[in-house]
Amino acid sequence: MLERLWKCITGNARWIGGCLAMLAVGWALSPAAQPAWWFRRAEPEPSPSPPPAPNGEILLSDGTQADPATREILLSTPVYQPTAEGSLSGHIIAVDPGHGGYDGGARAANRGLWEKVYNLRIALELKDMLIANGATVVMTRDTDEALNDPNPPGRKKRQDMERRAERVLTHGAEMLLSIHQNDYRVASQHGPQVFYRKDCAAGRELAVLLQTNLNEELYPGSRRRANVGDFYINSLGIPSALVECGFLSNAAEEAKLRDPEYQRRIAQAITQSVIEWFARDNLPQAAAREDR
Ligand SMILES: [Zn+2]
Repeated sequence: MLERLWKCITGNARWIGGCLAMLAVGWALSPAAQPAWWFRRAEPEPSPSPPPAPNGEILLSDGTQADPATREILLSTPVYQPTAEGSLSGHIIAVDPGHGGYDGGARAANRGLWEKVYNLRIALELKDMLIANGATVVMTRDTDEALNDPNPPGRKKRQDMERRAERVLTHGAEMLLSIHQNDYRVASQHGPQVFYRKDCAAGRELAVLLQTNLNEELYPGSRRRANVGDFYINSLGIPSALVECGFLSNAAEEAKLRDPEYQRRIAQAITQSVIEWFARDNLPQAAAREDR
């Protein structure tokens, strides 16, 4: 038995030797076999420069560098990731709850709630529906705040709006929905009103869908049409619409706008419009409905 084994080994001596030699070379080159000084040479050199993130520069949409305060605001942008796959998967949508912080917007009659409160509640509901349909959502704010410095060099409102715009643009949003409430001296005025930027065809298509779906959900039979509106937030170069959900100056409608179920219906109609907008085949029908 031993004799047979010995013959087998000697008969394959060259082959076995080769294998042993390869194992030896492999071990010699492996980390376990190397002295520390050898391996240290393979490690990356510590970088003499400061790490690029999160302390690196942030370029604004016009190519200039953000000042430190703006940079902090952009780094803290509330961005919500999708909670499910859906028809909005892969899309980044910005939601802008109008006003906030020092800027209350319009106010309901009899020293009621400020517009900023309704805007944020509806916008957060909308955000939840969009992420449930697969979208990533960039919020210009998700708390009661304005984005201006306490004492900006120019106007507070302007700095707040410019920083909202940068939150939208530096986070790659493809579409913007700005949520507001209306106010008018004639108390009987009621119903949703959607605005888009003049000469922005994609924004008009979006606004027409929004107005049509909001009419059908909240005031079936209403023929109100989307309108051109010269609002800064609609001028960012992406399809956008400003949605006035209803009139705080109308007591009956203000009571509805405070109701979470009514807020949910508004958010649902907006979400449906966004889904239809991304499925562009529906657009000719929607435009036809608007133009009749
Ligand atoms: Zn407003």
